[in-house]
Amino acid sequence: MEIFAARVDRAYALHEKEYEQKALEILRSGSYILGRELAAFEEAFAAYIGMPFCVGVASGLDALRITFRMLGLGPGDEVIVQANTFIAGVMGITDCGASPVFAEPDEYFGLDPRGLEGLLTSRTRAVLVTHLYGLMTPMEEILRFCKGHGLLLVEDCAQAHGAAWRGQKAGSFGDAACFSFYPTKNLGGFGDGGAVLVRDAALRDRMRAFRSYGSEKKYYNCMIGANSRLDELQAGLLSVRLRHLDELNTERNVLAERYAGGIRNPLLTLPAPRPETYNVWHQYVLRCPARDALQAFLEARGVRTLIHYPIPPHLSEAYRYLGMKPGSLPAAERLSDTVLSLPMYNGMTEAEQACVIDALNAFSV
Ligand SMILES: *Cc1c(COP(=O)(O)O)cnc(C)c1O
Repeated sequence: MEIFAARVDRAYALHEKEYEQKALEILRSGSYILGRELAAFEEAFAAYIGMPFCVGVASGLDALRITFRMLGLGPGDEVIVQANTFIAGVMGITDCGASPVFAEPDEYFGLDPRGLEGLLTSRTRAVLVTHLYGLMTPMEEILRFCKGHGLLLVEDCAQAHGAAWRGQKAGSFGDAACFSFYPTKNLGGFGDGGAVLVRDAALRDRMRAFRSYGSEKKYYNCMIGANSRLDELQAGLLSVRLRHLDELNTERNVLAERYAGGIRNPLLTLPAPRPETYNVWHQYVLRCPARDALQAFLEARGVRTLIHYPIPPHLSEAYRYLGMKPGSLPAAERLSDTVLSLPMYNGMTEAEQACVIDALNAFSV
């Protein structure tokens, strides 16, 4: 049996008729950009997460870029971000000219609040928290730190649609929350898409203007903007999937529990989330000192896995200009060398999962 790291066709098949009906309706409507499907999705998604406003944009990266820009950050400003995040978060910071300040992750793959004070400077303006792999970051200490120092808080929720801490959803804690609807995400579309959730109506208005050439009114441009919109087809299909998001996340929790119950190999360290968090398992990431050998072993048995991420942003070629050396963020770098993401997708069968578990349990060095 061949098992892929992700299968987006399975999630489509789960609610095929509903997607097809919605797509046909939109195709026949003659309205494809900035119409009522987007308005309906924005309203439903903001209500689902528990934030006042949603602005649909073209991708998760654009959500991040637009957020830092519209929050008014620029050259000379610093944003604290965890060093093991997906590089899009860092690009969101640097796009407006601001500088990333990397924090080490804790043993749960999240931003370690114990390191925050030491990273504070007179230029610090914001903290970016990523709920990586769908594992919810506890927010108490981070909120206290941001409030205490007058910092903006932005959440990267691209892997955490529906995750929660003590019942409050990821994306509802800060000044802005950025989401991606890339097809493999928990709330995945059928192409690229993203959104920002915000608390402040004026910030929402600036973002709405920016995403459409900087115009709130057609052809009256108040700023130099972008073309970054969530189109009607994506918005309509995402509204369909949003209705099923809780059940899709429940299924991922069942899959995660089955991995946790079935994997018995002392060479592997399984993810162990905190009890006060609801996690949505965008990825199921284990750690293994012999990670590369493990990945090759699984591959030979037909089990495809991924590494999120093999090179931390501070060591990537893109950020060479920051001048950071290997060894400067040992915890994040150790994760890059040891993490492995198992196959995880809605519609994964028990037989497929058993095959992955058997292969993992057969691994030795
Ligand atoms: C996917 C992802 C993004 C970027 O989203 P795109 O829609 O692919 O641009 C940003 N941050 C994280 C954590 C992601 O997983």
